[in-house]
Amino acid sequence: MKSVTHKERSAVFLDRDGTLLDDPGYLSDPEGIVFFPDVVDSLRRLQASGFLLVVVTNQSGIGRGYFSEENGLEVNLRMWELLGRQGVSLAGLYYCRHHPDAGCRCRKPGTLMAERALSDFRIPPETSWMVGDAVKDVQMGLMAGLRSILVMTGKNLEGEIPAGALVKKNLSRAVDHILLSGVAP
Ligand SMILES: [Mg+2]
Repeated sequence: MKSVTHKERSAVFLDRDGTLLDDPGYLSDPEGIVFFPDVVDSLRRLQASGFLLVVVTNQSGIGRGYFSEENGLEVNLRMWELLGRQGVSLAGLYYCRHHPDAGCRCRKPGTLMAERALSDFRIPPETSWMVGDAVKDVQMGLMAGLRSILVMTGKNLEGEIPAGALVKKNLSRAVDHILLSGVAP
């Protein structure tokens, strides 16, 4: 049975490295967090429009043995805290710690992180979005039933952009598109 007290809210799923944060490669030091200049304002705009904000991030540096899961958590918690101080409240953050060869279903383009969030927050996928800087981000988004935007702020844009994905210069431009799309969260 469905509760009538919870209004379903749409979400914007966000990749972390190369989308929200400048990506130095396998970021494991909380002091190394650098937001792109347009990120806080962009997230505030989404939040003010009623979207839930959910980060979904591959952290294979853990599975590769480059840093510990604890280090990875420290970075995520620090980012969460820094955003909170600036008035941005993340609804959730999901990470995959596995090595790419592990065969997990959570590493993007696997959809398990998004599926969990859709279920945890009862998010309607058809009015929700995925934004990321890698082809695997938008592949995941499309497979999870989300409208998907590739942003050009990453360093490792490889692979063919799937049909159905939009391409925008940065998060700010992606958010312009989302807010102009006319779908109320
Ligand atoms: Mg990325």
